[in-house]
Amino acid sequence: MKNTDRLKVALMASRNPKSQEVLQSLWMKLKEKKFILTPKNPDVVISIGGDGMLLSAFHKYEKLIDHVRFVGIHTGHLGFYTDYRDFEVDKLVDNLALDTGARVSYPILNVKVKLMDGRVLTMRALNEATVKRLSKTMVADVFINGVAFERFRGDGISVSTPTGSTAYNKSLGGAVLHPTIEALQIAEVASLNNRVYRTLGSSIVVPKKDKIVIEPKHDDRYSISIDNKNYTYDKIQQIDYQIDQKKIHFVASPSHTSFWNRVKDAFIGEVE
Ligand code: NAP
Ligand code: MN
Repeated sequence: MKNTDRLKVALMASRNPKSQEVLQSLWMKLKEKKFILTPKNPDVVISIGGDGMLLSAFHKYEKLIDHVRFVGIHTGHLGFYTDYRDFEVDKLVDNLALDTGARVSYPILNVKVKLMDGRVLTMRALNEATVKRLSKTMVADVFINGVAFERFRGDGISVSTPTGSTAYNKSLGGAVLHPTIEALQIAEVASLNNRVYRTLGSSIVVPKKDKIVIEPKHDDRYSISIDNKNYTYDKIQQIDYQIDQKKIHFVASPSHTSFWNRVKDAFIGEVE
């Protein structure tokens, strides 16, 4: 982008009063600095709320992710997708006024749900995709790069991105991955392990280009959660997972907090 072009900015805020307050003040400040405020075809999308709000912003502008850069403002603690705190609105406006188009990019997950009637539904996830059988124990074959790896029995399976590794994946006992590692992580949700049923038990980190396939064994209803959205399907043939060819871009901010600081801030707190 040329320096003379005016940046088109879209704002999205969660409903809570603090986010709405930040929205109002940011709106005024961006107007003063002559930014173009529009939800249509933006260059920059600013999400105000938590990480969950940024997930919504990502899905709203999913089709434009080649072009769009995101910025997250957290109206609370520091988040994983949110570089700015609510009291740093002025700093954000100043940084955007000096914007050079610089960005940092992270991998996202491509999910293909193949139904028995031949339909293929392609989705993208920023955090993870989790499949669960609704009525009973899920039985599914897991293939990693063509290898019939294991027959899973349990509640479900989550496949997460590096930036999603600190979300549901972490609660499942998965490892925290630095977002510059281009890999996907498979984590089990309550697997049955005994003399008859066997899974690896630990989470598995799969490199870029490797393909994960999950093949549910029963014609039944399954839920597939993609980040903060939930879908239900009958008769799934298989689900394919790979790192997407596209990445999500964020406005590179001079105040970008290091990943390890975020992890510490979120999960550890102060060390004496
Ligand atoms: P939510 O139920 O409101 O949020 C779940 C929590 O996860 C919130 O504290 C959220 O932070 C945090 N979070 C979201 N993305 C994260 C990330 N990449 N790293 C660390 N923490 C993250 O739902 P939501 O806000 O719409 O977020 C949906 C996500 O929730 C799903 O993608 C899944 O990863 C996660 N989730 C976790 C569990 C679990 O741990 N048992 C269960 C279901 C879903 P904010 O408060 O900043 O929004
Ligand atoms: Mn949330």
